[in-house]
Amino acid sequence: MLEPLPTPAPPANESNPQAIAVLGGQAGGSDLHLLDISDEYLRFWGGRRDQWLGAAPRIVERDMENRRLLRKLGQALSKGELCDGYSLSGLDRHSRARCPRAPATLIEWRVTAMNMPGYASRVLVLVQRDISKRVEKEAELERLATTDMLTGLYNRARFDVLLKKEISRLNRYIRPFSLIMLDIDYFKAINDSHGHDMGDQVLASIGEQLKSNLRKADYCARWGGEEFMVLAPETSLEQAIALAEKIRCCIRETHFPQVGRVSVSLGVIEARLSEHQQSVMKRADNALYRAKEQGRDRVCY
Ligand code: GH3
Ligand code: MG
Ligand code: MG
Repeated sequence: MLEPLPTPAPPANESNPQAIAVLGGQAGGSDLHLLDISDEYLRFWGGRRDQWLGAAPRIVERDMENRRLLRKLGQALSKGELCDGYSLSGLDRHSRARCPRAPATLIEWRVTAMNMPGYASRVLVLVQRDISKRVEKEAELERLATTDMLTGLYNRARFDVLLKKEISRLNRYIRPFSLIMLDIDYFKAINDSHGHDMGDQVLASIGEQLKSNLRKADYCARWGGEEFMVLAPETSLEQAIALAEKIRCCIRETHFPQVGRVSVSLGVIEARLSEHQQSVMKRADNALYRAKEQGRDRVCY
């Protein structure tokens, strides 16, 4: 009498449902087939228990890949390589085409060789786990860690990573990129006259304007309190100056509720080959400083 396979809770209450199947085959090469399956396996793949038992296992959804994996396991079995601890694993994205009731979309699977009570010879145990929710949560955490909450733009930490990447791309493939450093003029006065909340609204609105003026390939970050950075890949100094001017005009022409007109100063540079990150930032900062010094509401490079 075989011990029943553990039956996981129904998917509604289960954060990561997992299907289990026991696979067997004769050493010497006969085809792998299912010796037992859990209820969750039926939920993952549909069909009835009696249809599956004795049939070929379904490890992944795509037929060709499934056949490849079964061949690989069959070869390992016929060569006697399935020692205890042998395992094979991967990820599979379910389209639900095969089983529309399936609870899962992103599946982590693992096949492990082991001795199990009730089976005379070593078997393969297949575990398929729905990791969609976990991956979603991780993506959300990643988003929170890299986003500025007020504007929804990248934060400084994320910007640093992007800048490093772009610097290595420049040095490796000689692909140009430019930086625009933007600082709101007399922002302290806005806070002082209209309150911090109104200041926050101006920051959020400028964030929106930056997003709507940039291309998809450009990156935009809130660098500090009222300072923003635009990283424009594949963009020469001339193109970046034009972009900075467009941003400046767009913000200058905006009427901010209660606050009225707001101006910004911008410093633009194009990164040089083999230039260090500090030097790139320093040059952008110097350009911005000149824009402030020359009277604000302007672009310097
Ligand atoms: P300048 O034209 O020289 O840039 O003058 P400024 O007043 O913009 O510059 P300063 O550095 O003197 O002041 C920046 C102000 O930005 C001071 C700070 O209180 C404010 N600030 C920084 N972060 C935030 C924020 O998250 N929200 C709001 N409302 N204000 C902020
Ligand atoms: Mg500032
Ligand atoms: Mg300022």
